[in-house]
Amino acid sequence: MFKDKLIKFKNFLLDMVYPNDIKCMFCDNDVANGCICDECLKENIFNEGNRCIKCDAKIKEGNIVCDHCKNHKRYFEQCFCPFDYTGKVRASILKFKSDGAKYLAEHFVKFIYEKLMIENVVFDVIVPVPSHTKTIKKRGYNPAKVLADELAKLSNKPVCDVLCKNQPTQNQKFLNFEERQNNLKDSISLTDSKSIKGKNVLIIDDVVTTCATVNTCAKLMDKAGFVYVCAIARTNF
Ligand SMILES: [Zn+2]
Ligand SMILES: [Zn+2]
Repeated sequence: MFKDKLIKFKNFLLDMVYPNDIKCMFCDNDVANGCICDECLKENIFNEGNRCIKCDAKIKEGNIVCDHCKNHKRYFEQCFCPFDYTGKVRASILKFKSDGAKYLAEHFVKFIYEKLMIENVVFDVIVPVPSHTKTIKKRGYNPAKVLADELAKLSNKPVCDVLCKNQPTQNQKFLNFEERQNNLKDSISLTDSKSIKGKNVLIIDDVVTTCATVNTCAKLMDKAGFVYVCAIARTNF
């Protein structure tokens, strides 16, 4: 079942034709079809193999849920990340986040959307993970919002930009899940609960690492229906 889905997913991706694209989204190679060149396809860029049914992290064969999801309450149903956050994918996402390469969002989102379709995820609204105004000012945009806008075009679902980052988060790189969660507590708030009430929500972020951020966002969606999470890539430890 899972393998069938995976094959279907891969074939679908390979069959996709982008008439305007001649460069690979991860490197400068020319591509005839699709948006990823053969060389990049040979690398393990996709988040595949045995993965946690909750958070999409790679886990040992035979396991269903990762230790993290076993030990921490998740406020979302499931998380979907098409790519593995390593190598070329990582470089490409950093370019998108810090180098103003907003055009990459269109490509990233196609893969997110295909994954959601294959998994039959039904959502009504798209909610981007918020950035603090200071960060947005520095960067020029909130990457999650750019992704949300692109996904809205593809899915015909509205973006509900209802989460607010009240204070900039300190660098979370060296913090564990609990520390991250504490760090985030009270730093994100919901500005309009009416617009998500009873609706199936899809939270979107660029990268998912410990799920601390998306979990904090999902916790605020207690008036919503089902809450799902998606991102371009998953950090796998
Ligand atoms: Zn390439
Ligand atoms: Zn998990």
